[in-house]
Amino acid sequence: MSNSIPKKASVVIIGGGPAGAYAATRLAQQNIDVVVLEKAQFPRYQVGESVIPHVWKFLDLIDLSERIEQAGFIKKGGGAVLWEGQLRAVYFSKHGYKRPGLHVEREIFDTILLERSVELGAMVFQNMTVTKVDLHTNNISFQHTVTKEQGTIHADYIVDASGQTALVSKQEGIRKWDKDFKFQAVWGYFDQSDYLNGEGEILDFSQRFTQNPMSLASSTGNWGWVWHLMMQDKVSVGAIIPQMDLAKFKQGGSTLKERYLSHIRQTPLTSSLLEKGKLIDVVRTVRDYAYEPKKLVIGNCYLAGDAASFADPINSEGVTMALYSGFLAADCILKSLEKTNRADFYQSYYEKTLRKRYKVFKVLSYPSKTLPKELIEGVKDVVRNQSTVESHMILDHLICTNRSTDYPELLESLGIPKKEFPQRLPLPISIAVS
Ligand SMILES: Cc1cc2nc3c(=O)[nH]c(=O)nc-3n(C[C@H](O)[C@H](O)[C@H](O)COP(=O)(O)OP(=O)(O)OC[C@H]3O[C@@H](n4cnc5c(N)ncnc54)[C@H](O)[C@@H]3O)c2cc1C
Repeated sequence: MSNSIPKKASVVIIGGGPAGAYAATRLAQQNIDVVVLEKAQFPRYQVGESVIPHVWKFLDLIDLSERIEQAGFIKKGGGAVLWEGQLRAVYFSKHGYKRPGLHVEREIFDTILLERSVELGAMVFQNMTVTKVDLHTNNISFQHTVTKEQGTIHADYIVDASGQTALVSKQEGIRKWDKDFKFQAVWGYFDQSDYLNGEGEILDFSQRFTQNPMSLASSTGNWGWVWHLMMQDKVSVGAIIPQMDLAKFKQGGSTLKERYLSHIRQTPLTSSLLEKGKLIDVVRTVRDYAYEPKKLVIGNCYLAGDAASFADPINSEGVTMALYSGFLAADCILKSLEKTNRADFYQSYYEKTLRKRYKVFKVLSYPSKTLPKELIEGVKDVVRNQSTVESHMILDHLICTNRSTDYPELLESLGIPKKEFPQRLPLPISIAVS
């Protein structure tokens, strides 16, 4: 199979998840020869099902919105947050978004994205694991996952979109764990569940396609929380557990499954919604998923998506960040190929622009009531240049999850008008909130 992989290409992309597939599609749209080397065979499983409506503008650019609409994904009614006894809601429609957020089966969503890149001319090779990237020669070594056949390919530019593998930053020893986000995620799937709609009413599983479910996040203390997402034929339920609570989590049972179920049962609303549900599939876990490398461009290699940085899933921003960074990397590479003497400029532009955007990602999820000064300073530019409604939506999200009391001060200092607090939903009467 590796025989059909060319010996060189203008751009080689490592990983065909949202970041890699999006960068490949944008480059292929401009007739750049682009090769994607993907370790897995799609459709492949991936966590990260809650997608915010920002995704549509990226899908529009690659003429994919209609196909995603037709895939039948569950449409979000908004975000409901039960934090320290208060149930509040964020509605995207109130912030000018005409199209909804989605709950997507990532194996389907990601496959549609990757297939789009192929339609536009990207050469995608699956079951190909990249093993080494020589940043001096731009030679990329790979191996077939099954046959172990090896090969190399030369690229003018490389995009590392290998997700949490973060191949290049690990290889170069520049990956930095984020000490402020010390959490473990544990998640599984249930066959059915009741759910909350936008009015805070509890509805039956069978209504999920006609009455849009809210994505529900419930706090468990110490910035830990539990997510509850209605999917097409199941329910995704996961817990983000602070490291300081891991000892208590372990007391929940002798297996990961027992501990997970015991932990979920301690969130009264989620537990009550899941009364009729049975756990299906395995329980999965990951820890220390928050990091940032010292550089986002190394030589001619751009880091994108999770391979660049990740903070926390509380804001459902991972997929959007992956698409954004794929978009930005493709754009900078395209311009560098056109104007070779400006390549350094575009590399530092990428570094600065993406780094600032990641800071906003961190602000949205930072587990504290006050933010470090340098973080709030670091997002000033982005906040100043974004629309007022976007600033207000961020504020709603922060208020719901009791984060960052200094973000409103930042808005005030930038002259962004004040707004009312997010709408409070009545708590379903059957729920006793601890
Ligand atoms: C617990 C948890 C919950 C989350 N929930 C959400 C959510 O609700 N909403 C949201 O938007 N985001 C969420 N995220 C984040 C989201 O999953 C990621 O941000 C998103 O998948 C990043 O896309 P990506 O393309 O960068 O990486 P990925 O989707 O991980 O894709 C990377 C691809 O690279 C391939 N690859 C890896 N190594 C190699 C190699 N050596 N050679 C070739 N290919 C390779 C992999 O097979 C994979 O297909 C969550 C994350 C966690 C940890």
